[in-house]
Amino acid sequence: MPTTDELRRVLHVLKSREGEMSGLLARFVRAESPSFDKKAVDNFGRIVAAEWRKRGARVRFLKQKERGDHLLVRLWRGPGRPEGRILLLGHLDTVYDKGALAQTPFRIARGRAWGPGTFDMKGGLVLALAAVDTLARARIRPRKEIACLWTSDEEIGSFSSQRFIEREALRSDAVLVLEPSGEPDGALKTSRKGVGEIELRVIGRAAHSGLKPEDGINAVHELALQIVKIAKWNQPGSGIGIHVNVVSGGTRSNVIAAEARALVDIRASRATDLRRLERRFRKLRPHLRGARLEVHGEFSRPPMERKTSAALYHRAEKLAALMGIPIREVSAGGGSDGNIAAALGVPTLDGLGAIGADAHSTRENILIRALALRAALIAALLATL
Ligand SMILES: [Zn+2]
Repeated sequence: MPTTDELRRVLHVLKSREGEMSGLLARFVRAESPSFDKKAVDNFGRIVAAEWRKRGARVRFLKQKERGDHLLVRLWRGPGRPEGRILLLGHLDTVYDKGALAQTPFRIARGRAWGPGTFDMKGGLVLALAAVDTLARARIRPRKEIACLWTSDEEIGSFSSQRFIEREALRSDAVLVLEPSGEPDGALKTSRKGVGEIELRVIGRAAHSGLKPEDGINAVHELALQIVKIAKWNQPGSGIGIHVNVVSGGTRSNVIAAEARALVDIRASRATDLRRLERRFRKLRPHLRGARLEVHGEFSRPPMERKTSAALYHRAEKLAALMGIPIREVSAGGGSDGNIAAALGVPTLDGLGAIGADAHSTRENILIRALALRAALIAALLATL
């Protein structure tokens, strides 16, 4: 267990390495890695893998056919056997199409690094390397093995990585997620809502709306009635969000609509609410005689509840205080791979990545001065867990 003096020295050393960290970030950001572009993600994965190999880590590519390969990194500097394992979790992909970099090139201005993926989450990938470097330089040896799972499809729902996230989380004592921190001051994310998408389809019957309207079953009318009903399930105060964000239906203004469809974004803070919501959707019945209702979809990411983060957060708070770093926690509306790990009951702390702003936009940026603070906090967690 490192002493307070050792922890402060870690922070001090890191502060002198800002240039190195932003240089690495520049290289990472310039290797564009859109989720849907396997070649580009694989190329970036190889760059990240090389950095870890330089540090003596064992790297395995978890091969994927359609998506980029996921990266599994393991680092144990011995001697003897590790007393468990800590998983650092993050993703290689970004939401930006190839060419976004030409529109908003990587640049450093006003104490911030700007560019696609700086905040979400190439900054986090840099922090993991910096944290490990610092521990080595300070000759602080974690008791646990450090594993990293860098996935390739977080931004598009983690469909190819979910089973690896679950497998690696279950093999670990704690999961530290290096996703962007809470804006603007770098809050750690101790809970996240569960997120899902429901498709509501109504099948009616077409008819001439002037000559024989009584032969028709209006799917648009039916859908409208359903929307009014489910919109009432929205309970922001209890962490439940229901938003019908896409609707379509019908063909011509003089044809009774035979078909209609809505896409509903659903969010809940508690797993029990989430299951109740799913049940409520399944129980929907049509109002209009003869109309048929189909409900597809579900929660793709379960909620991350605060109870799975609390102990880790308190540890982080204590370590941050020892190093003189201010810290706070926040609950996030969006989901991440942290949700998947936390749902298994594995202690998970999210939002440990860079401090910055405006992820998924042309203004995406991170605060350079905070890189040292963040890497120090991650290093301290790795050293003491
Ligand atoms: Zn992310």
